[in-house]
Amino acid sequence: MVKSRPNLRRKKEMKMAKVLRCRDLGMKCTHELRAETEEDLLKLAAEHAEKDHGIHASSIPPAIMAMVKAAIKDE
Ligand SMILES: [Zn+2]
Repeated sequence: MVKSRPNLRRKKEMKMAKVLRCRDLGMKCTHELRAETEEDLLKLAAEHAEKDHGIHASSIPPAIMAMVKAAIKDE
């Protein structure tokens, strides 16, 4: 078990954030999704697509999923 010490300051958080912008997928939507891992990000994307775009993740063809994954950027 590794506990983070509050008195040990880090210059930069080493956490990598994954970012997906709906706009990058050709959607007229300014929504930005962020997560620590691609897996989490795809889950968020599926929720967002369903809630805000009426697209069910299960109905997204593999070719589109590949596009989505390609649009994910590290930040
Ligand atoms: Zn959107």
